[in-house]
Amino acid sequence: MTIYAGIDAGGTLIKIARLGDPGNAAGRGPAGKPALLKFPAARIEDAARWVRANLPEDARIGVTGGRGERLRGLLPEYANFAGVPEFEATAEGAVRIRACDLGEAGKAAERFVLANVGTGTSLHLIDGAERPRLGGIGLGGGTIVGLTGLLCGVRDYDEIARLAPLGDREAVDLTVGQIYAPAEPPIAGDLTAANFARPLPSAAAVRPQDYAAAVVGMVAEIVATVAAQAAALHGASRIVYAGSAYEGNELLRTLTVRFTHMLGRTAEIPPQGPYCGAIGALYAAKESIQDKLKNE
Ligand code: ADP
Repeated sequence: MTIYAGIDAGGTLIKIARLGDPGNAAGRGPAGKPALLKFPAARIEDAARWVRANLPEDARIGVTGGRGERLRGLLPEYANFAGVPEFEATAEGAVRIRACDLGEAGKAAERFVLANVGTGTSLHLIDGAERPRLGGIGLGGGTIVGLTGLLCGVRDYDEIARLAPLGDREAVDLTVGQIYAPAEPPIAGDLTAANFARPLPSAAAVRPQDYAAAVVGMVAEIVATVAAQAAALHGASRIVYAGSAYEGNELLRTLTVRFTHMLGRTAEIPPQGPYCGAIGALYAAKESIQDKLKNE
């Protein structure tokens, strides 16, 4: 039985999707779906060790992401690696994830903007088989880690995600309501007028959770704004948000959905979103080998 896997070796995390061999615990995803796992990119040798322990040398492995070549270099005995362009893999993965939920009919009718919020953010239009990359911004999950780290020394993502819902953004951000007070503002008072622009009585009055809330809020607002503008420009009503930034970060998810709705679009954050690239690479590798066999 051929074992297929997809590896998305990104700037922060290495994501792996593995399909086949249900006898092996590592390949047993829920009912015919790939098993999914991840490693910090800083521990790329651990990812290589996992591959050696769990994938046979003749496994067909699609590799994508900026650190893909380095990982490949650590595994010279694997002959069946196929490089998959990153943006192609991400888009394919997003379509596959949604097709599982919607069935084939839903897949055919697909048209949405994909915002992949990883270390940075890339935007794609998915319009059936057409999947142009629309652009990207240097603001994403890496910004949450980097900026919160600079502001209050907290760089652990789980800790940032735990703190953020406990914080008060208004200790840091300047809101429309603060500017207009005591008058009634012409738009919702809790909207951000300027991120990080609150004149501070004293820096000591701002707690780590306030910084975490402000940083997460800023990323949610900017990503949703850029994605919603892209969706308006391309006539798409739906935005699918993927990438590991949403994993375990409830405030980022809630604010992303709220801002997207406010901007007149619907938002989806699929649970397997962090694995779009890995799932896309897996199926790209699977299909390329099947095409090759058909043509022989
Ligand atoms: P990339 O492919 O660029 O590595 P990901 O989609 O994996 O991007 O997202 C990376 C981001 O996910 C990080 O910048 C961080 O915000 C967030 N993240 C989620 N879980 C973790 C984790 N366990 N360790 C570090 N970052 C994490």
